[in-house]
Parts: sequence; structure tokens; C-alpha cells
Amino acid sequence: MPEHPNEEHHFSQNWQQQLRSAFKSIDELCHYLHLSTDDLSPSVAAARQFPVKVPLSFAASMEKGNPDDPLLKQVLPIHEETVTYPGFSHDPVGDVQAMPTAGLVHKYRGRALFITTGSCAINCRYCFRRNFPYSDLQLSKERENAAMQYIRDDSSLSEIILSGGDPLLLSDDRLKELMRQIEAIAHVRRIRIHSRLPIVLPARITDELLEMLSQSPLKIVLVVHCNHANEINERVSCALKRLRNKGLVVFNQAVLLKGVNDKADVLCQLSETLFAQDVIPYYLHLLDKASGTGHFEVSKQDALALIKEIQAYLPGYLVPRLVKERVGALAKESVFA
Ligand code: SF4
Repeated sequence: MPEHPNEEHHFSQNWQQQLRSAFKSIDELCHYLHLSTDDLSPSVAAARQFPVKVPLSFAASMEKGNPDDPLLKQVLPIHEETVTYPGFSHDPVGDVQAMPTAGLVHKYRGRALFITTGSCAINCRYCFRRNFPYSDLQLSKERENAAMQYIRDDSSLSEIILSGGDPLLLSDDRLKELMRQIEAIAHVRRIRIHSRLPIVLPARITDELLEMLSQSPLKIVLVVHCNHANEINERVSCALKRLRNKGLVVFNQAVLLKGVNDKADVLCQLSETLFAQDVIPYYLHLLDKASGTGHFEVSKQDALALIKEIQAYLPGYLVPRLVKERVGALAKESVFA
């Protein structure tokens, strides 16, 4: 198997080209990391259920030859994904039942969430939407019009969240089109964008995108998704700083994952590293119980103990809020003892 194309050349390409050459097989990824499949025991059956997809930018931050690398664990399909755990389901946060119109989730007062695309630049094995029926809910023009009309008709909606999949995978033109429609609705004050792209494919943060976001008449809030300090390499750091330099508010949400970031020193380092890029470490989510993700679960008691431990090391503003989502709740819920 050939080495992955020259990295310098790869990172000089635009984000679409970089995305196209993401690793899409266990063998390719193992080869790049100098690991044999015997070291890892990957599962082809799990990869069939939820395909492998890892951009080189993310893989390049993994330690070569380390089968326990915390970034690798987030993307490698393993046998445990095929095990059925009690309490885990296909739609653990009740998204489908909270859609007044296809592609628009309205759970919380004042906010509604647009499923803009079913695609991501990376397939995270713990994803709460890994079983989401994206193909049934594709945003046709008709559905988009219905969703926009729903937002227009509900004057309590002051914030619209662009989610997915990953909304920054949309082309600039498509993103602009959606944003312009939302910006024209008088009662909407903020657009929040949930994206993992600044972390896993930082080349997406182009001058054109920054210009578009910074020119919006609405307040733009960007929520990135980073689980481990090792994800913030030089390219990511640069992309995050460019976002902040344009005046965008950037928060991070992480998921607490067994074997990835369930240690106090790892969480402290994540908060410190994020803040060094002007990113607020806002949420630490308990795992949403999506089928195929049970092996990542950290118990509530262990999560609370971790928070207590990191509170002893970090100032309050660097301690993320431990939250969970409960079907039918009117907001994300803080986790207490
Ligand atoms: S980027 Fe987000 S939505 Fe996409 S697979 Fe990862 S966790 Fe899921």
C-alpha cells in the first residue's frame, strides 16, 4: 500500500480536496499510523454500520505506532460497537419526535435547530446521530421553505442553530443562502453554528467563509467540538485564532469518553489549550446513549468525581459545565450528585 500522499502537498490543497482524500478504510488508516490490524482488532462489521472517515489533518495529530492513541479511539470501528447495551437506542435525544417539520428540531424555547446536511468530515464512533435517518430527512427546497416558514411564524425563536452532520460542509453559496433567509426574519437575533470542521479540517476556515460570517447582521456564535488537547495542532490553532480575530464568539463542547478524555489531567489540559486559543470550554456532555456507543460511557458518579477533581486545579471559567440531554426536557440539564 502506498504511503499517504506527501503531507506538505496535501495541506496546500483546498478544503474540498483535503476532504476527498480522507481515510475511508481501516487498512489505509492503520498503514498510515504504522500499526497492524493485529494491534487494534478493528471491526469490519462496525465499519459497515458506520463507515470510517478520517481527514489527514486529524490523523496527523495521532501518535504513530500507538494503538491507544486517544484520537484514534474516536474514529476506529471496533467490535464493541456491535454489542447491544441496555438503554441505548437509535435516537437517544428524541430529535425525530421533536421535528415540527422535516429537518427542523424544536425542543427548547427560543431556539430551533436546522439539520442542514447529513455529512460530516469525520465519522466519530461515539456520535449521537450515527443512526440518524438523514436520507429520509434530506432538505429539499420544499422542506427548507416549510422550515423557514415555521421559523417566521414563531416569534419566540430568537436563535437558529445550524447543525447536521456538519453545516460547514455546505458550500459557501449554500451556507450564505440559508443564512440570508434566516437573517431576513426580524425576530431572529443569533445564528449558532455547530461544527467540528475547525478542529478536524481547519482548511475549511477560508478568508471567504470568515468574511461571510463576520458580515452577518446577526450575532454569530460558533460551537466547535474538541475532546482532547492533542486535536489542537498548529493548523487548528491558526484557524481558531482567525475566527476569534474576526470577532466571532467561539465555545467548545466536548463529550466525556471512556479511554479518550476520562482523566482529570486530560480534561485540564483540554481546557487550558482551548483557552489559549480564546475558545471557552463550555460544555462537557455525558454520552448520549446511541446504539453502538456503549463502550464509551462514563458513569455519572465518575463524571462528577472528575469535575470535582478538575475544580481543584482550574479557575471556574475553565471548568466546563457537565450536562446531559434528556428526552422531553426543556433545556440541557446540568448534572448534579
Ligand atoms: S462531527 Fe459531530 S455529527 Fe459528525 S460524526 Fe462527529 S460527532 Fe457526529
